[in-house]
Amino acid sequence: MTSYIAAGTNDGSRENNLLSALERLKGICAVTGVSPLYETPAALLFDTARDDWNKPYLNCVFQIETDADAFSLLRELQKIERDMGRGEHERWSPRVIDLDIIEHNGERIDTPELSVPHKQCLKRSFVLDPLSFFKPVAPEYLYSKTHQPAMMGILNVTPDSFSDGGKNDKIDAFVKNAEEWESRHVAFVDVGAESTRPDAAPVSAAEETRRLSDVFNYTANRKKTPFSARFSIDTYHFETAQKALENGFDVLNDIHGFRDPEMLALAREHPDKLCVFMHDEDIKSLPPARTVPALESWLERKIDVFLKNGLNPRHMIFDPGIGFGKTACQSLQVLQNLERFHRFGLRILIGHSRKSFMKIFTPKPPARKDVETLAVSLKIADKVDILRVHTPIEHAEALLAAAHTENQFF
Ligand code: ATP
Ligand code: CA
Ligand code: CA
Repeated sequence: MTSYIAAGTNDGSRENNLLSALERLKGICAVTGVSPLYETPAALLFDTARDDWNKPYLNCVFQIETDADAFSLLRELQKIERDMGRGEHERWSPRVIDLDIIEHNGERIDTPELSVPHKQCLKRSFVLDPLSFFKPVAPEYLYSKTHQPAMMGILNVTPDSFSDGGKNDKIDAFVKNAEEWESRHVAFVDVGAESTRPDAAPVSAAEETRRLSDVFNYTANRKKTPFSARFSIDTYHFETAQKALENGFDVLNDIHGFRDPEMLALAREHPDKLCVFMHDEDIKSLPPARTVPALESWLERKIDVFLKNGLNPRHMIFDPGIGFGKTACQSLQVLQNLERFHRFGLRILIGHSRKSFMKIFTPKPPARKDVETLAVSLKIADKVDILRVHTPIEHAEALLAAAHTENQFF
């Protein structure tokens, strides 16, 4: 039977608490999935809220398989909480660990001791956001004011990328960045070895894998925890994508939207991997008002192809391709209408970081557009699932501040 357990902690060493809870959970059931971590504001009661209780949480969801009925599972979870030091406590006071059953085998239980699905879960972004890594969550609940996207940091190992070319192509700088991001719970690290700015020289798969050899050596041998960042390979070359998967990568990010049959086949052979498919058709000649309809019909055709090829649409992440084959006004049209894509039930990734459509409002060169990038991110954060950016730590900090500003007192 499949269950989903929401875990939260805001006292002590939070990541270690979650790791310890996970180890203990493995002692009572099979853990089949661990979501990325989300940092979120504490839920507080209006009349008892105190500043020293208002400490950010780390949250995640565990997917488990168990033969235990829901009541036995609850008792096991409560034992883990007690063993980890959670004693008698005031409601919503800081805790080393909280383990709630969100769903259990699709059952409905409503007793004073146990409610399944968990009574509050549809109101809680700190449950729904990590849960959405395992199953679709209805958009009207998922994309609420308190929704947070996961972060994907960009690390290019290129000599010529438009804003960070030549900065991370030495492995030491690359590893330092990746590990710092990981320590701040950045969910994904997207690695590209070919610049795709409009006037960049194309790179062969052989040259691409040569540039990536030190990175592959690192990703294949690094020490991982279940909360380690997932590495994503930004390539449209099948050979490079395949090597990346062999060397510890978890995500394929294809700016050509998996139109190469070999890339499609690779995605099918790896149903446990995530695949980002980007829209890159040239639609510049269309008036801005036709932008979203053009993307919608492209998306319908893509989903059809994915289904016909036996892919699980849950693993396919839609990137509308800000700045690819689009004018600046068309890129803005996409950003202003993101909710139009929610009905497709796919996760949405936006990669607007430092891009040229911002020339409409700033003359700055790409590497100096981080404030503008962050401002756009905050505007679209409650409508997307993943933000692909050059400054993921600053983003995570800004999103946490924004979430605290929206924090509700109950
Ligand atoms: P909340 O339930 O609002 O998330 P909490 O987790 O801080 O708050 P606890 O003190 O951990 O609350 O638990 C209070 C009671 O909730 C427990 O004694 C337990 O019996 C009950 N409970 C009801 N449904 C569930 C569930 N699905 N998972 C875990 N506990 C539940
Ligand atoms: Ca709880
Ligand atoms: Ca609880």
